[in-house]
Amino acid sequence: MKINIHKLTRLIEKTLDSKRYEHTLGVAYTAAALAMAYGADVQKAQIAGLLHDCAKCMDYHKLISICEKHQLGISEIERKNPYLLHAKVGSHIAKNKFDISDEDILQAILNHTTGRPEMSLLEKIIYIADYIEPNRLKAPNLSTIRRLAFKDIDKALKLILEDILSYLDTLKSDIDPQTRLTYEYYMSLRGAERHGNLE
Ligand code: FE
Ligand code: FE
Repeated sequence: MKINIHKLTRLIEKTLDSKRYEHTLGVAYTAAALAMAYGADVQKAQIAGLLHDCAKCMDYHKLISICEKHQLGISEIERKNPYLLHAKVGSHIAKNKFDISDEDILQAILNHTTGRPEMSLLEKIIYIADYIEPNRLKAPNLSTIRRLAFKDIDKALKLILEDILSYLDTLKSDIDPQTRLTYEYYMSLRGAERHGNLE
């Protein structure tokens, strides 16, 4: 796959507001660093990081109309919370506008908001980079998770899922069933370690 990262970065800058662009750069280089730590494809991590939020600055009407036009499907929860659609629409745009054919990259963009059971290494990298990139300041346990991300990616993932679920529970907001499925899958996978030392 021949993709010019500099060109892609300039194109992405045009589609995002400055705050989202800064976040995007943070995700791209954090994802590249995680790819180095785990022996994943660094360029793919950069591309997925740069594109993961490419639909984030679209208004809700546009997100919904793109989904309807291209039959991407809109669940009940997505209709109530259209921002969730930015992942699905982002993956569609990455494929059709940015000519990304790599399925792993497209899946990493598609699943970056909710995760999914049995994520690939690249999907985990993007999911985690989105949470820990340097512009993120408010999440609890951030310094622990940042350290852990480079030492034990699955433990970092588990901590993030726990924090996201408890945050969404306190908000009493709707939780995408996929987020809960991801949480339950990774909790059951490492249930025996739950009381282990996370450091
Ligand atoms: Fe996002
Ligand atoms: Fe993001």
